[in-house]
Parts: sequence; C-alpha cells; structure tokens
Amino acid sequence: MSKRNYSRREFVKHNSLAGLGAAVAIGLTPALIANCATDTSTPAILGGRKIRTKEWPVWPQWKPEIYEEQVLRVLRSGVWSRAEVVTEFEKKWAETIGTKRCLAVVNGTNALIASLIQLDIGGGDEVIVTPYTWISSIQSVLIAGAMPVFVDVDPETYQINPDKIEAKITSRTRAIMPVHILGLPANMVRIMEIAKKHNLLVIEDACQAWLAEINHKKVGTFGNTGCFSFQNSKHLPLGEGGAIVSDDEKLMDRCYSYHNVGFPFGEVIGAVGGGSVMLGTKMRITEYQAAIGLAQLGVLDEQTTLRNKNAGYLKSQIKDIPGIKPYKLYDNVTRAAFHMFAFRYKKEEFQGLSRERFLEALSAEGIPNLSGYAPFLNKQPYLENAFQSKNFQKMYPKEMLDFDKYKEENECPENDDLCLEAVWLQQNLLLAEKSDLDDIATAIERIQKNADKIKNQK
Ligand SMILES: *Cc1c(COP(=O)(O)O)cnc(C)c1O
Repeated sequence: MSKRNYSRREFVKHNSLAGLGAAVAIGLTPALIANCATDTSTPAILGGRKIRTKEWPVWPQWKPEIYEEQVLRVLRSGVWSRAEVVTEFEKKWAETIGTKRCLAVVNGTNALIASLIQLDIGGGDEVIVTPYTWISSIQSVLIAGAMPVFVDVDPETYQINPDKIEAKITSRTRAIMPVHILGLPANMVRIMEIAKKHNLLVIEDACQAWLAEINHKKVGTFGNTGCFSFQNSKHLPLGEGGAIVSDDEKLMDRCYSYHNVGFPFGEVIGAVGGGSVMLGTKMRITEYQAAIGLAQLGVLDEQTTLRNKNAGYLKSQIKDIPGIKPYKLYDNVTRAAFHMFAFRYKKEEFQGLSRERFLEALSAEGIPNLSGYAPFLNKQPYLENAFQSKNFQKMYPKEMLDFDKYKEENECPENDDLCLEAVWLQQNLLLAEKSDLDDIATAIERIQKNADKIKNQK
C-alpha cells in the first residue's frame, strides 16, 4: 500500500490498537499522519486525500459458474456457424422487446444499414438524423447512399428535438432516424405523429437503449424497425453483435435474406434448388456469440432496474450543486437504459474552471468519467468524403454536394454547446451500491467548493 493511498479510514482500522508506533514503523511520517487525520477538504488533484480508492464494478461482468456451461456446450459441438442457438437468441430477444420478429446480425451498425436498405431507402433520399450520437448512425445512412439531414438536439434531454424536425422535411425526405442516445428515450410519440403526417418511415437506433420504455412500451417497437447493438461496452455484451426487431413479417423476411447473401427465406421465395433471389450480403452472427448473449440475458432486466434506481438517486444528490445540470427524461418515459449518466457542466458556476480540469479533478478523486462525443458530427470530413464518392456524384445534383453549403444548412448550435459541456459517467458505476454513489456527489461538491484553487493551481 503506498503512503498516498493510506486513507484515514484505513489508518484507523489498521492501527487504532497498535498505536502510532506501528504507523511510523510502516513508513508514515508524523506529518503525513497529521495530514491523513485532518485533511478531508483539499481536492485530491491538489494533494488532498482521494475520496474513493475502492474499485468500481467492472464491465462486462462474466460469471463463469452461471454462464459458461451453455457456451462450452456450443464450443464443444463444433456447430459454430448460424444454427439453433442464434434462432433461440432471436426468439428470446423478440419476446423481451415485444415484437413478432428479431434478426440477429454482426453488429448494430449493420442492423441500421440492413433496415435502411430493406426499407428501400437509398440514392437521392434524405434521412433526418441527430448530431448527438455515435458515428454509426450517420455512417449507416451514407452507406445506404442516402443523405443525412441534421436536426438539432433538445438541450435538456439530449435527444433529437421534435419541434425542429418539420422544418427540415423536403420532397426527398423518406425517413427519420431517432437515436435513444445515452439510453434515454427520444420523444417517440411526437416523432411518430410527424412521421405519420408526412408519410415517413422511422428507423429507431436503440443501440444504447435495451429495455428502455415509453408509456411501458419498449423503445425499438415504435418505428418500422428498431436496431440494437451488443458490442462489448453495451448492456448485453457479445463482443460484437446486433439485432433488428419489427412486427413487419415481410420486411423481416427480406432482412433475413439480405443478411444471408440473398438466399430465399419466408416470403422471399426462390425457385426450388435455385440460388440467391435477391441482392444480399452476409451479416450472420455465430452460435457461440448467441450463447454468450443467452447466458447474460437473464440479468439484463435486474441490472436495468438497478441502473434506474441508482441514476435517480445520484441525480437527486447532485442536481442542486451549482453548475451541475443533470439529464432530463420526457414525462412519458417509464424506464430508461442509462448507458451513461450524463449532466451538463456549467463552468461559469465553477469560477470558470474548464470542463477538462473539472474532469481531471474528478478522476483524481477516483471517479472515472468521459467528456462524451466530440462536437461537429454534422461537419466532419467523412461527410465530404462520401460526397466526393463516385456513387454520391452520380446520385445527387451538384449543389447538394457543396460541402460548405451543406455545413451551413446543417448547423446545430445546441449540439455544439452540449458537446462542449457534457460529462458522462459510464453505466457500470450505476451498478455500485447506493453509498458508493455518495462518493460521486461528495467529489463534485468538493471540486465545486475548491474550484478557484484548482483553476489557479497552474
Ligand atoms: C453502438 C452504437 C451503434 C453501433 O453498434 P455497433 O454494434 O457498435 O456496430 C449505433 N448507434 C449507437 C447510438 C450506438 O451506441
């Protein structure tokens, strides 16, 4: 144990009987002991005692005793390419979400791509998207050959702002892709009303929102399709994996065929003995991935409940600290997934202490954190690169591919501000005990009280 980590609580625990002599014997100087005993207010970044030394829950959480048997069975069977276990996983996921069908695919990105392409969205079409998301949401639209049109975020919920959608609808608009970002549901009731009014398709990016609900209905079931990710950091981690859910049987048959090199499936009928009947690619997941998913599916509900309870508690503990503005949920949200616990950091109320220094100070207290998405997803070079591609050049009139004009028309100032102010705490912190969450609140309060000193340190 290093001297620096020798906290007062541990000091008392180990040495109250043995007395000071023992403490000196293990290398603590009297000055350090005095410091340990009294200094509970100096931020760790300025040399004070770190608030938290205990580990946070890890992610992913693998429980060999419970999970490994069914995975080993698959490994030993030698049947590794798509077969019964994948089908069982799909059946369970459809049941869990509450749709007729589910198709498992290699990842969430490809779930979005397959959805778009099988909904016949492509060259010349526009898809309404949000700038506060993981890059895959936008890349999937470009890969389908469609043009992303950005609608700014609601600064309190961080979701696509429904009030700003209609202004962006043109004769080319075919679909809206809401993303339930950070596991917080988008305003699907409003979005579906707008889609209905303008005859638009809806592809829900629920890649961070497993089991989240609006009026007790799961997200991913509102649109024409819902897409999920099971990548390693996600709440049902398979390493890589994804799923499309829908009640539209014909569409799902086409998605199946598409994910299996265009071989006939269900309604997609081919000649007996014939080969591929439609354009397709290959997006199948393996049996052992499905087994890993099935193994962990049992704890997802319980963990989601815990994240909701802990997020609510943590929010109540920090919401009154000046300069901390936690996420807001729409009134009809009955459950969130909380892929991240997010708040906005207002440096004006922290004596001008920059967000970067605030995050460093928080890390120093033993609270891991992230600054979230980099700004300007609506302006980055990948868009220009797509516009310069042969396909885009052939599919769109020149003026639509003018990148400066595009950037101007797709400005999202609310998102720019959000990206510069957001603070994220990862979901695994929400799997800790309630008392552990108090450490987070204590750390933020300590930084708030000492913001001036931290700012002037260097
Ligand atoms: C993770 C994620 C995806 C893509 O999923 P992958 O499985 O990583 O391909 C898409 N959208 C959002 C919002 C995500 O978080």
